Amino acid sequence: MLCVQTDGRPFTDLLCCFDQDLATQCRARGCPLCGARLHLARYPRKPRGGGPGLSEDYGWRWSFCCADEACRKRTTPPSLRYLGRHVYLGAVVALTACMQQGLSERRLTALDLVLTVPRRTLQRWRLWWQEVFVHTAFWQVARARLMPPVAVQQLPLSLFERFATADCGQQLGRLLGFIAPLSTRTASTLFELR
Ligand SMILES: [Zn+2]
Repeated sequence: MLCVQTDGRPFTDLLCCFDQDLATQCRARGCPLCGARLHLARYPRKPRGGGPGLSEDYGWRWSFCCADEACRKRTTPPSLRYLGRHVYLGAVVALTACMQQGLSERRLTALDLVLTVPRRTLQRWRLWWQEVFVHTAFWQVARARLMPPVAVQQLPLSLFERFATADCGQQLGRLLGFIAPLSTRTASTLFELR
């Protein structure tokens, strides 16, 4: 269970708010192809790794469909909750990968994270950061914004540490915000993970 309190609210609820903001911005821009209005067309999701008590919002991924009958293009905003198509919460993916690389016990206690993720899945996540993430178009551009460069061998911990704040939940939110572009359809073709 992820149970981080940030400004008195559970971290998982904050991620919902961030995703809603991203969705509102996306909708305000209209259809990227024809500029028409966007209709709400959310995807049902069944996230794992969030533990009990996860809000109902987690059953849905924000998405829109062009209102113009002739176009109907689907537009899905980036998400801090869902990385690509896989069903584990983004926060859990990022955190568990960090944990495997020695995020300290004290900090983990602060995060109150109880892991129910199979070991083999953890291993795949870790490999994903090392072998897939580093080859994404997103990372090729994003890494240039990080000075001094982030140690690739220590990903994702090295990236997590780059967003250091006193508040673990906020720090994780910043990491997820940074990699959020990976959660869109175009990026996720590079980004298959189970
Ligand atoms: Zn359109």
